[in-house]
Parts: sequence; structure tokens; C-alpha cells
Amino acid sequence: MYRLSRRALGGRSDGSRWGTFSLEVMATVLASSIMMGPVPAGAAQAQGTWKAGLATVVTTPEYSMWMAGYAARNKPSEGKVQDLHAKALALEDAQGTRFVIVTVDLIGFSRDWRDAVVKEVGSRYGLRPEALLLNASHTHSGPEIRAWRATQLWDLPPEQIELCKKYADTLQGKIVELVGRALQDLSPAQLSYVHGRAGAAMNRRSPSAQGYTIFSNADGPVDHDVPVLVVNTLEGKKMRALLFGYACHNTTLDFYQFCGDYAGYAQEYVEETHPGTVALFMIGCGGDQNPTPRRTLEWAKQHGRAVANGVEQGLATKPRLVRGPLKLALGEATLELSAPPSVEELKKEATSTNKYQSKHAEELLRNLETGQTRSTYPYLVQVARFGDDLTMVGLAGEVVVDYSLRLKKELAAPTSSGPGPAIWVAGYCNEVFGYVPSQRVLQEGGYEARESVLYYDVTKTPFAPSVEKLIVDKVHELVQKTRTATGQ
Ligand SMILES: [Zn+2]
Repeated sequence: MYRLSRRALGGRSDGSRWGTFSLEVMATVLASSIMMGPVPAGAAQAQGTWKAGLATVVTTPEYSMWMAGYAARNKPSEGKVQDLHAKALALEDAQGTRFVIVTVDLIGFSRDWRDAVVKEVGSRYGLRPEALLLNASHTHSGPEIRAWRATQLWDLPPEQIELCKKYADTLQGKIVELVGRALQDLSPAQLSYVHGRAGAAMNRRSPSAQGYTIFSNADGPVDHDVPVLVVNTLEGKKMRALLFGYACHNTTLDFYQFCGDYAGYAQEYVEETHPGTVALFMIGCGGDQNPTPRRTLEWAKQHGRAVANGVEQGLATKPRLVRGPLKLALGEATLELSAPPSVEELKKEATSTNKYQSKHAEELLRNLETGQTRSTYPYLVQVARFGDDLTMVGLAGEVVVDYSLRLKKELAAPTSSGPGPAIWVAGYCNEVFGYVPSQRVLQEGGYEARESVLYYDVTKTPFAPSVEKLIVDKVHELVQKTRTATGQ
């Protein structure tokens, strides 16, 4: 039986999890002096309500190392077909409230890793935790940075585990520096919102005699929206950035070369079409969505083209001016986990020939013995409200599509001052700790509901049926806080 300290592996220990990173923080900037009714495009330009700054950095590992995403991988990377990137968009409203969105071509971040970045950008630049949104594209053709996974799940040799840690540390430094450069780059800007559509994603949960399996399902729910935040110079003459989203796993490819997958190509194509513009990709609630078909570079490019075309579609529509003020909120929903199986069942599972199942059962048994069985999970929810024009929700983990479909409906209700805001729901934000099923998906069962807990380290048992309600309630609570902070 293996016994390894998670802290020693660079992960978060059970002890520290509960005692650190106090949340329920909010921006305290008060009501804006620029509240106004609907205005024609261009009227806000003269007021100079926004500043925007941009920075990018190449994050492709400079050495061969283990790649993330598939348990079946059996060797380290073999070069690249495309560079990976981290990109930052810094925004500042007329009151000086700042918000930085960082998008990274990466499988995901751990909570420890985010906490370290938050601490550093806080002390260096005075950025508060709610003012930083990290989004991982979840490319499965990027490096593995989760040392616990390399050790506990995959039994990688020590030198590979060291490379995971080394990459994670290097990336941390690069992101901190990137945020600083984006803040330094702040200059007057105009923001607007458009959206198009793309059909690259297909629901991947199919009912079968054996329950729900991962297989393309043309009848399953999808979110084909491509939301786009357009950042122009104040005069509106020059496009500086296009931040866009799409709800789909970055799993077209499963080869051994670094690549951003469809999201990497979508960014590349958008930047080709708009020279001098930075394209940033923010993945949506694509936990149960796969690009379809898959497995060739050509398909990754085709899906990238489809999403890039969705951006162009949006740009062909009438833009919605995005005004401030910016109101930010970050909170934790305490999600309930289901009880572990009985000791007898776990002892039986510990003898399974499936090594993931046996390791999982061993750990649950050990947790029962030491009284460390976790019954709840502190789940990060982030809200950024851009006046009455756009509300952005950042959810942690591999969120299934039901969340964006539901939240877009519930949060878009018209306000007393005009039409409802545009709603943008991103998944894979700030921490990717496992799958986040909806109540429906949990009831149906399958990989995203239950089986995936074998491959993650912190949510060792599936979520309880209350998961969807607790998350949605927290989103509404935080959105409400951003409203009451303005006195509306
Ligand atoms: Zn995934």
C-alpha cells in the first residue's frame, strides 16, 4: 500500500484546506456616477469609461515532459505542432476598479496553485482575489502540472514528477509577470459584446443498456453560443482584443505533441483575421461536450475554424456597448459529497484489477481509518458585473452544460432600467478539481456524475443531489451582492 503525503507532492493537505483563503470577499467600490439609460453606440466613448491592457506569453514547455488529460498516455511529449500561450486582459472602470482575466492553454489549475498566484499578484500589484479570473482551456495536448496525479495515479518516474513541479512553478512566475504587464498596459478603451454560434461541440453522454457512456449524442443538450467581448481603442477605430468563449472539451487530439487543440487554432485564426488583435479563449461549461468528430489534427483545425467563424458571425451583428461600473464578487458554495461506500465494499474494490479503482478504494479506506473522510467541498464561484450590460460568471471545475443553459435563462431577466444583461458563463475557472454534474446528470449517472472521481484527488466521492441548487443559489447570491453594492 502506498502512503504519500499530499503536501509533499505539492498538493494541498487536508489540514490546510479548511483553514486558508478566506472568502466571501467583494469589491467595495460604490455607486457609479455614470449610471445612464440606453445610449447610442459611441456616446460612452467620449467619457472614457474603461481602460484595457493586454499581455501574452508563450508557455510551451522547453523540454519533453508528461502530457495531461488521458490516463492511457505511456510516454512523454514529442515536440509541438503549436505553441501554448497564457494571455491576460486587464480592465479598469472609471472608478478605478480593476479586473484581470487570464486565459491559459492548460489542462487546469489546482486550488493551491491559484492561491499562490492570488497571493503574489495581491502583494505585487494590489489586486484583490475577486479581481483575478483564471481560465484553463483544458487542452489535452498540454503539459501535466499536477504532481499528485503523476505520482499517485500514474506512478511516473521521479524525474517526470520533478518536471511537472518545475513546469508548475515556472508557469506561476510567468502568470504573475503577465498580470503585471497587462496592468502596465492599461490605456483608454471601449468595450462591446456580441455573440455568434458554432457547431463543433456535441453532447458526449449517451444512454445505453449499461447506463450513460461517453459516446456522441446528437440529441443531448449543447450550448453552441460563442460570446465575444470586443476591446477597441477609445476612438473605436482599432480592435485591440477579442475575448471569446465556447462550451466544449479541448479533446480533439490525443497525440504526443503540444497543441492548444481547437481552442489554440480558434485563437490563431481570429488573430490572423484581425492582425494586431489579441485573441483570448475562455472555455465555457463544456464538461459533457466533446468536439466531434475527433482525433486528427485536421479536425482540431476545422473545429478551431468553426469557433473562429462564430466570432466573425458575432462581429457581423450590432454590438452591444458594455458600460460600467465593474462590480466583482467571489464566494464559496459548500457542496455536499455523498457518503463513501461501506468498509466491506471498499475492501472488495481495493482488490480490483482496475488500478484506479483499487487506489481510490485504498485511499477512502485510509481516510475512514484516520477520520479524514471529506463530506463537503468548498466550491469557488466568481461574478463580474459590467453595469447592466454584461454579467460574467466564472465556475470552478469541469462544469456540465446544464449550468450555462440554466444560468443564462435565469440571469438575463430585464431590469428596471432596460433589457437584461448579456450573460456569459465560463467553466474551468480558478480551479479544476473534478467534474461538476447537474442534478440531471447526477441522476443519470455515468462518467461526469460518478466514475470520474477515480481520477481526481479531492472530491473522492460523487457530489450529493444538492450540488446544482447550492451552486446556482451561490451564483444568484453573488449577483445580488454586485447589485446591492451599487444601491440599485
Ligand atoms: Zn475533462
